[in-house]
Amino acid sequence: MTDITTGKLGPSTMAIHAGEGIDAVTRASSPNLAMSVTFAPDEVTGFSARNRANYEGFVYARLSNPTVKQLEDKLAALEGSESCQCYASGMAASHALMLGRLSQGDHLIISDTNYVGTAELVRDSLPRFGIAVTPVDTSDTQLVADAIRPETKMLWIETPANPIMRLSDVATLAQLAHAKGVRDVAVDSTFASPIGLNPIALGADFVIHSLTKYIGGHGDAMGGAVLGRKADLNALNLEASVHFGGVLSPFNAWLIMRGAATLPIRMRAHQENAIKVAAYLETHPRVRRVFYPGLASHPQHELARRQMRNFSGMMTFQVEDGEALARRMVEKLEIIHYAVSLGHHRSLVYWIPTAALMRSTFRHEGDSLRRYRDYAGDGVFRFSIGLEDDCDICADLDRVL
Ligand SMILES: *Cc1c(COP(=O)(O)O)cnc(C)c1O
Repeated sequence: MTDITTGKLGPSTMAIHAGEGIDAVTRASSPNLAMSVTFAPDEVTGFSARNRANYEGFVYARLSNPTVKQLEDKLAALEGSESCQCYASGMAASHALMLGRLSQGDHLIISDTNYVGTAELVRDSLPRFGIAVTPVDTSDTQLVADAIRPETKMLWIETPANPIMRLSDVATLAQLAHAKGVRDVAVDSTFASPIGLNPIALGADFVIHSLTKYIGGHGDAMGGAVLGRKADLNALNLEASVHFGGVLSPFNAWLIMRGAATLPIRMRAHQENAIKVAAYLETHPRVRRVFYPGLASHPQHELARRQMRNFSGMMTFQVEDGEALARRMVEKLEIIHYAVSLGHHRSLVYWIPTAALMRSTFRHEGDSLRRYRDYAGDGVFRFSIGLEDDCDICADLDRVL
């Protein structure tokens, strides 16, 4: 297989060619889908995956599969990381990294506002295993510095943070955490995609993506990825992939790989549409506020410009009576789907009321509630701008606003 050397090519070329190549046997130009679960080895090895760690070929699909490996190599090239491990979903990837790296007595510092599944995992499940968790507003570097303890093993940042579009400064936080002895800095970079942000270049040790979102891009396959150093990910493979078992299906890898090939061009189009739709929303009399990192009105626009190369298609907006607008959206939208998820070619919108989210998930009080409300008020519409014509997206919004 032709191996594309990373680093020398532009992102669009890497998105298409990295990890794949003309098939040596059939001369097929597009990647084959290898659904095989088991592989006949050409030497006799032990039965445990531990005996296969240095074996170059494929053995069993829970260790590794040729189609999944092609996607992993493509993602590593796009993210500029040494290695990548794919999982069955973004949550399976997050769980693999947390449980693969943290032990009883360790301390995790995590953004106090992030993807709800991650927020509930660290609040409700990790403490049952003796892992202490401190949620902090990671957009404030001083709060992170104050929370670090001798037993802090991991700092977990999500930027831009789901669902409110608050940013964290990856370079500053990574430097601070490492200087204070924190071993792992992990960044959930799902909203930015590898086209918008490269956390490893900014000093992070691990990057997490939900492949279900921008990277797959078409809303038809779930997947997740952890990226980082080869030695760390090999160890994670032996424990999190082989024993926790939440690995990616080759069929989904094949679909996601096809999506990933157009990621750079899609991200440019998402951003182009988002800028136009954000401008429409900002001037609409019924819209109170719009939060989009690409707008000068975003409170962290300067950080966005410094840290991100693409502002993606994710934004939030607020109106007077969100509940009523959400009901009109369910009934009347014709183009935009009122549905969860994001990063698809279709536009998706969802109402996220602050009070209900506090009860179910974040449980902010006092200062952290005030900081959340600075970005979210009583609630936000999380809006994933798709690839339809911007005039049709705006016309659909006009029907309900
Ligand atoms: C969706 C999402 C996840 C979880 O990914 P799944 O593929 O749905 O499991 C994690 N982080 C962020 C930021 C997300 O948006």
